[in-house]
Amino acid sequence: MKALWIILVTFILLSCTMRDMTSNKINELSGGKDSTKKEFEVVKTEEEWKKQLTPEQYYVLRQKGTERPFSGKFELHEKEGMYTCAACGNELFSSSTKFNSGCGWPSFFASLDSTRIKYVTDESHGMSRTEIMCARCGGHLGHVFDDGPAPTGLRYCVNSLSLEFKDLLKDSSETK
Ligand SMILES: [Zn+2]
Repeated sequence: MKALWIILVTFILLSCTMRDMTSNKINELSGGKDSTKKEFEVVKTEEEWKKQLTPEQYYVLRQKGTERPFSGKFELHEKEGMYTCAACGNELFSSSTKFNSGCGWPSFFASLDSTRIKYVTDESHGMSRTEIMCARCGGHLGHVFDDGPAPTGLRYCVNSLSLEFKDLLKDSSETK
């Protein structure tokens, strides 16, 4: 009788465990799918990006290209306003953190806030650098280096092609 009882309990435990395993697997699958989807808020196919961006923008933003130094429209741009991601409009850098680094690309010593940018170690071209991407769409922006001015000591070196500019003074006067 005792043996039967043990068998019964074992059976119940086993069936519970198996049910747990099944539901865990489903959670894992859906969770896994969600987490890849949620890596970036804005997700588009390569075809959609090609339609939306110019070939030059697509090369830099989606294929991690680099524009020629001293060729970008924002390198010596000094207006007051907000620099946004050219692919999704995410606000990335304020003009108040822009400085002339002389490196040939627009340079900033700080991002608008840490959530706007995704940092990835980039070991390409025989160098160890930190790639910066738009945290909203995954668009390639450029790299960040630790030779910038105070107060951060950082230099965000960004392709002009990855950026758009919002003239805040102009925008506010238009709405008034
Ligand atoms: Zn973006």
